[in-house]
Amino acid sequence: MSASGLFQETFGRAPAIVMRAHGRVNLIGEHVDYNGGLVLPTPIARRLEIAAGFAGEDRVAIASNRFAGVDSRAFVEGRSGRWSDYAFAAALKAIELGAPRRGLAIAIASDLPEGAGLSSSAATVVGVIRAALALSAREVDDVSIARAAQAVENDFIGVPCGIMDQMAVALARPGEALALDTSTLACERVAIPAGWRFAVIHSGETRALNDGRYALRRLECERAARAVGAEALCRADARQEAAIEALAPPLRGRARHALSEHRRTVAAVAALRAGNAAGFGRLMDESHASMRDDFEVTTPLIDAEVEASRAAGALGARMTGGGFGGCVVSLIPPEREEGWAAALAARFPGVRFIA
Ligand code: ADP
Ligand code: MG
Repeated sequence: MSASGLFQETFGRAPAIVMRAHGRVNLIGEHVDYNGGLVLPTPIARRLEIAAGFAGEDRVAIASNRFAGVDSRAFVEGRSGRWSDYAFAAALKAIELGAPRRGLAIAIASDLPEGAGLSSSAATVVGVIRAALALSAREVDDVSIARAAQAVENDFIGVPCGIMDQMAVALARPGEALALDTSTLACERVAIPAGWRFAVIHSGETRALNDGRYALRRLECERAARAVGAEALCRADARQEAAIEALAPPLRGRARHALSEHRRTVAAVAALRAGNAAGFGRLMDESHASMRDDFEVTTPLIDAEVEASRAAGALGARMTGGGFGGCVVSLIPPEREEGWAAALAARFPGVRFIA
């Protein structure tokens, strides 16, 4: 059902506006966003539609096709731990950004899976903030919206995420990648050449969100940076790089990945601009190897899927997202896609084709 249809069914009237927010996949530049490096996310076709209208009291009523029931929350409520926290907090954040202090009714229709590393949370928050602002024709620039959306996740939800997801959702349009320097927030939109197809599959493995391994990698990077005297691992100079090579494992591998991944991403942006698909694919392969061997965040199943993707015709393939499960992104020549998909489906029954 469309967001409009869900709104009509839930609230008995038509919405005043409908907004869209796409999910995103990071093409390369993994685990560098907290090390001052470059990331390269791009929107995927899957997305949320958010239908909204003003409603009487100081409350936000939220319905979603992906969750049961209608949650009606008073403005004064705090975090509840329920699914509606993200949309609710986004509606409150929009008031801070200049939307009128009026009640809201919101209906969300989405085909973007949650918890797959495709930024359903950032899409929800950015989309609801935009919808609430649009209701009163308030104009707020995209970077401010991204920062506000990050603040929702950091402060209200309590997730210590970086700003990549929110910037990608707020700034990048389909058909573009966003080269985002996480040390300065400087970013550039880079067009994806015609004929390049980035396919996303879900591996079938899901990481428990709170299993602590992501936090451990962050801590290891902090310790490595301190040990070599670098402010940000991705920006290590020649002397610090030599010191990285002298570290003991596992810190050596962690720091090596951060630095080499940043450099690969810089090279990948150049390959994208030059239309060099083979070169881009090679960098994706190297990125995966680095996550497997130096950063140690892949799994045997994902390693096998990445390998199979290449064997089935991909120019490059890698795990994307935080790791220990989640998605694989592959660069495939469009004419090979059918055979590629059939080969993967035959060998890995748990794989889901996402985008
Ligand atoms: P992701 O990796 O997809 O960003 P998160 O765990 O960060 O996963 O965020 C998922 C949460 O975002 C959901 O539990 C829910 O609270 C919110 N969310 C995502 N999609 C929707 C949706 N379609 N409708 C309502 N809330 C959503
Ligand atoms: Mg998220």
